[in-house]
Amino acid sequence: MSLRRRISPRNSLAFRLTLWYAGIFTVSSFIAFLLFYTLITSLIIERTDQDLLGQVSRFSILLASEGVEAVKDSAVIEAEAAGVKEVFFRFLSVNGQVFSSSNMSYWKDIDIDETAIKALLRENNPVFQTIAIAGRSEKVRILYAVLRPSIILQVGVAMESYSRFLDAFQKIFVTTMTFLIILAAGVGWFMARRAVSEVEVITRTAQKISGGSLDERVPVKGRGDEIDQLANTFNQMLDRIQALLTEIKEMSDNMAHDLRSPITRIRGVAEVTLTSGKALSEYEGMAASTIEECDRLLDMINTMLMISKTGSGVDKLCIKDVDLTGIVRQACELFEPTAEDKEVNVSCDVPDRTHLTGDTSMIQRMLSNLLDNAIKYTPSGGTVNITVIESNAQVVVAFKDTGVGISQADLPRIFERFYRCDQSRSQAGIGLGLSLARAIARAHGGDITVISTPNQGSIFTATLPKSLSSQTQL
Ligand code: ADP
Repeated sequence: MSLRRRISPRNSLAFRLTLWYAGIFTVSSFIAFLLFYTLITSLIIERTDQDLLGQVSRFSILLASEGVEAVKDSAVIEAEAAGVKEVFFRFLSVNGQVFSSSNMSYWKDIDIDETAIKALLRENNPVFQTIAIAGRSEKVRILYAVLRPSIILQVGVAMESYSRFLDAFQKIFVTTMTFLIILAAGVGWFMARRAVSEVEVITRTAQKISGGSLDERVPVKGRGDEIDQLANTFNQMLDRIQALLTEIKEMSDNMAHDLRSPITRIRGVAEVTLTSGKALSEYEGMAASTIEECDRLLDMINTMLMISKTGSGVDKLCIKDVDLTGIVRQACELFEPTAEDKEVNVSCDVPDRTHLTGDTSMIQRMLSNLLDNAIKYTPSGGTVNITVIESNAQVVVAFKDTGVGISQADLPRIFERFYRCDQSRSQAGIGLGLSLARAIARAHGGDITVISTPNQGSIFTATLPKSLSSQTQL
């Protein structure tokens, strides 16, 4: 089933991105139009007001020089000249009575506003009004001004250019906005599809992987953008999952193999004793060997549990002040008989005391594993040297042996669970010692590294921080 069929278009990211894009684009265009509209209308009104004020000052001058009659005549002539539908003049007394006017046949619906006259007389400033006349499209701009203390002029002008602008603006607005919304939706859809198509490639790869093909990888375009970053992270995650799955598979194979041998031995001993055993001592021998094999199995299972708990941090460490030198000396004493039996010389080069915070029993276990290996994989006559070096922040314990060494091919794998190098299979062991040692070191915020040359020897170095931060405990 294809992606597009599975996700309904209305729920798709591309659809929502397009909606957002078109929405934002439309709102911004609308705001731009609104600003433009406000600016133009205020400019038109300002121009009209200036014309009206100019008319008032012309009448004031005429009144002062030639008297009221001249002004009245001039008003009639000017109204005729401009067009009786364009402009009108009314001369009022202070109580609002009309005593003269131009031709008012077209303007008879316009009343005298007493509030405006009161405001004019109170503040002595011209009063402007914009009024709409019922049944007419254009508005009228009206000015009340004092020509002389006893004469008020009411002048009105049809706001034709304003109405024309409004008409034109409405048409342009509707056409342009329709075009812009369609354009924004088209561009938004195109851009969203482009962005989302690359995410779809990743989703398709994920689907193929969930169908079982873990070898698939998302193509990286090499542009270094967010999609490339996502693809890279996704591929890295797949690499990691693949490596983990391989590790788990090998681990289960090894585990099955390691479990099979002791169980087969237990079964074999029990079968032989049952079929041919007569004496009590034979049954006692069977019980003893069963206990021995069970102990080995239990040891293996416990070690595995400890690795996984230490590794995942579930098992909280019991943090105390630890003297590492003391632990190293104890381990040397513990392994002295084994070393003597094998004729391996173990030497210690350690300071008097080495303090750090950590889990004593875990660190004991880690160092014992490393020392056990060093003695185990060193032939007779060889040497094992342990050094402890303390610095400000960390303690380094190195186990240097002159043993069989590890090949370059095996080196990266020896810390894996159940991994054993071929040449070591003759030795006792289950391949969990180094895994546990490294898990313990890491749980303490440190690590274990190794340098080795086949047939010459190995150096295992455990580095532990002196103080364990709370973060590394879990
Ligand atoms: P085990 O010792 O039980 O086999 P480990 O996990 O302790 O398991 O070690 C894994 C493998 O690493 C060993 O089987 C061995 O091949 C190799 N190895 C570990 N320590 C040494 C060493 N000091 N010298 C040589 N090989 C070593």
